Amino acid sequence: MKERPTYTLKGDTGDWEIVLGLEIHAQIASAAKLFSGASTGFGAEPNSHVSLVDAAMPGMLPVINGFCVEQAVRTGLGLNAKINLTSRFDRKNYFYPDLPQGYQISQFELPIVGEGIIDVDVEPAHGDPAYSLPVRIERLHMEQDAGKSVHDMDPTATYVDLNRSGVALMEIVSKPDLRSPLEAASYVKKIKSIVVALGTCDGDMEKGNLRADVNVSVCRPGDYEKFREDDDFSHLGSRCEIKNMNSFRFIQAAIEYEAHRQIEILETGGTVDQETRLYDPDAGETRSMRSKEDAHDYRYFPDPDLLPLVLTEAYVENIKASLPELPDQKRARFETEYGLSRYDAGVLSADKEKAEFFEHVARGRDAKLAANWVSQDLFGYLNKAELELTESPVGADQLGGLIDLISSDVISGKIAKDVFQRMINGEGDPVAIVEKHGLKQVTDTGAIEAIIDEIIAQNPDQAAAVKEKPKTMGWFVGQVMKASGGKANPQAVNKILREKLGV
Ligand code: ADP
Ligand code: MG
Repeated sequence: MKERPTYTLKGDTGDWEIVLGLEIHAQIASAAKLFSGASTGFGAEPNSHVSLVDAAMPGMLPVINGFCVEQAVRTGLGLNAKINLTSRFDRKNYFYPDLPQGYQISQFELPIVGEGIIDVDVEPAHGDPAYSLPVRIERLHMEQDAGKSVHDMDPTATYVDLNRSGVALMEIVSKPDLRSPLEAASYVKKIKSIVVALGTCDGDMEKGNLRADVNVSVCRPGDYEKFREDDDFSHLGSRCEIKNMNSFRFIQAAIEYEAHRQIEILETGGTVDQETRLYDPDAGETRSMRSKEDAHDYRYFPDPDLLPLVLTEAYVENIKASLPELPDQKRARFETEYGLSRYDAGVLSADKEKAEFFEHVARGRDAKLAANWVSQDLFGYLNKAELELTESPVGADQLGGLIDLISSDVISGKIAKDVFQRMINGEGDPVAIVEKHGLKQVTDTGAIEAIIDEIIAQNPDQAAAVKEKPKTMGWFVGQVMKASGGKANPQAVNKILREKLGV
């Protein structure tokens, strides 16, 4: 693995570096809310999924949803983190119109999951080498989501929709171990791939089911390392938190903007106010939302309506035994089982559906060839066309059929590209396409010999010159391939040409 590059920003007064810590909110894939039986269904009529508990009617009592607890534990195990057998729910008090309780039930001092660590794969664009980065998780806790204030339905009124009120979230907090915009985005990608593999969150960022608050500060080269020794970053430059980011592209753009903003303030003698900011993708800038509250502003205290959450070792062991294969394990298996490079194995294992597709194609076939066709040709095409794998015009069996045609020498790799294009255009089965367009490779040496004889006869001078300059044989190969419409078997062409030209 390659060394981690240092990400440096140039200021007027010298170099700067970035420090980033992320708080990811992942909605637990549960049909019911964290403390009520109301539905979590997306896109319903406003206020149609609201129980008396979610509306905070007087005297209502929350009841913990056991399924949600299990998902939080699964996620903690997937993050290689410590599961706290005793955790507690606390009230985080604040006023907001979309928070009818007047507090959010969260976990403060005793979260259900403690410290963990994950490997993040960073793949820079522009051909710089990829690298892998250990990122420490500080904690994972469960909490309720708030409702939504709707400001754009009426010019003079604000409406409140409580459908989301009480929906179960996992907040995953990283240590400030991320040092560049790309590392931050790569971290979110990794968390997403882990929760999706576990099935604990659907990872749908567009719906806001997975979103990140990004904490950004800047410092001078060398400063970070000093605080890292004691793992205490409270005296590093003050940070701003950019709320609710749900796109990898915007995460990077927002960090970039925010770091430059802070550098400009510091270089002109100012101080960075610790605050919560919002990113405006249209303007490409972050804007102040409110000054950041400290924990003590929320007057946290244990929720008297809920008992401490106590789990047994056996309960946790049971969940551990039922964990599915995680992306890192899958990658390791793809490397050994299919002989793929770490990079290829990473690309093909990052996403559950893609991994399944690849394994379907690779079964009983040349795995390296299958990996190339799946990741480069098919995924390359889908990326460009902005299609999901489920919308692919080419299925796993069809692509496998194409690979079989190459492996059995029915068509060359080059012709296969042409067949693939036709498959994308909806011409269907590769065998039928080859048949219909007469694309079968010519392996009949007699036929190839006839073409070669004719070309040599037409170009006697070149033929004579080849003996002195063997490299010019490539020209003959090209002529023969052209004359055969690309269908002559290249190995046979080379072999016969060598014999006839005496190279
Ligand atoms: P708070 O208690 O104010 O929420 P935390 O210590 O829990 O602060 O940190 C919240 C998030 O901010 C974490 O993800 C952490 O990694 C990140 N963070 C802490 N210090 C810094 C810093 N100097 N720069 C960037 N991010 C930071
Ligand atoms: Mg915190």
